[in-house]
Amino acid sequence: MQIYWTKINKIIEESPEVKTYLLDCPEDFTWEEGSHTHFALEGFNAGEKPNRSLIRHMSISTLPQSNSIGITTRIREQCSEFKTILRNLEVGNEVAIFKTHSNVPLKREDKNVYLLSSGVGLATFRPLVLEYFERADNVNQIHSLNIDSSKDFLFTNIFESAPDKKFTSQFVDNRKDYYEEVKNLAADKDGLFYVVGSDEFLVQNIEVLREQGIKPTQIMLDKHKQQLSEFLSFDLSSETK
Ligand SMILES: Cc1cc2nc3c(=O)[nH]c(=O)nc-3n(C[C@H](O)[C@H](O)[C@H](O)COP(=O)(O)OP(=O)(O)OC[C@H]3O[C@@H](n4cnc5c(N)ncnc54)[C@H](O)[C@@H]3O)c2cc1C
Repeated sequence: MQIYWTKINKIIEESPEVKTYLLDCPEDFTWEEGSHTHFALEGFNAGEKPNRSLIRHMSISTLPQSNSIGITTRIREQCSEFKTILRNLEVGNEVAIFKTHSNVPLKREDKNVYLLSSGVGLATFRPLVLEYFERADNVNQIHSLNIDSSKDFLFTNIFESAPDKKFTSQFVDNRKDYYEEVKNLAADKDGLFYVVGSDEFLVQNIEVLREQGIKPTQIMLDKHKQQLSEFLSFDLSSETK
């Protein structure tokens, strides 16, 4: 396993609680849209075993073309040790990234794509949308729906409806509006539905989508194969109740 140590080159305040850390891109480091990585802080590998409290999974919110690795995260006042340290890091400080992989690349199957996310889950989809704007081949259209109760919606310069690009973006701040809209979107029985958020959020979205007749093969989650089948079989077993 290769560990890439790299430096923070910019910190963007996306909203009062959300920051994007832009990291220098190591020469031989590349990734696909939808990738997540292991983001680690100094000292994580100092002992015999890696110190898990200094490592978090994070999506990469940029594309390789931007030449910076973007990590977008919410840091609340009450936060973990990891985020307390991260909050105090500055431009020039070193961090590590390793084991980078995409479970949710943009599928080019001549279908409508629906991106369903909660809060900073939108960061996972940012590079998918940028990739689509660069090359729309074999993607009919993209519709993003994000719920954020803070109302400080993210990346609004990119997530802005653009009919000429066949891109629609919706932000809502409450669950009622969110799930009503998910039901509306699920009227498209042939669409591809990507879902990113907490596990509870995934479970609830899968339930609503399945109730509307969307098949597990149409649902894309940022999970490895094994976890994916657990999530989608949870849903299948609930069908028999
Ligand atoms: C594939 C994948 C991709 C991911 N991508 C991203 C991403 O792009 N961005 C991202 O932000 N996360 C992402 N995550 C989730 C990420 O790995 C962390 O689990 C998440 O950010 C929470 O971080 P944390 O554990 O440091 O807790 P925190 O965010 O600090 O806290 C989690 C919750 O616990 C509360 N809390 C924590 N500590 C305390 C305390 N001492 N007292 C009271 N309350 C407390 C906080 O208020 C908060 O509500 C991803 C996860 C996976 C699996």
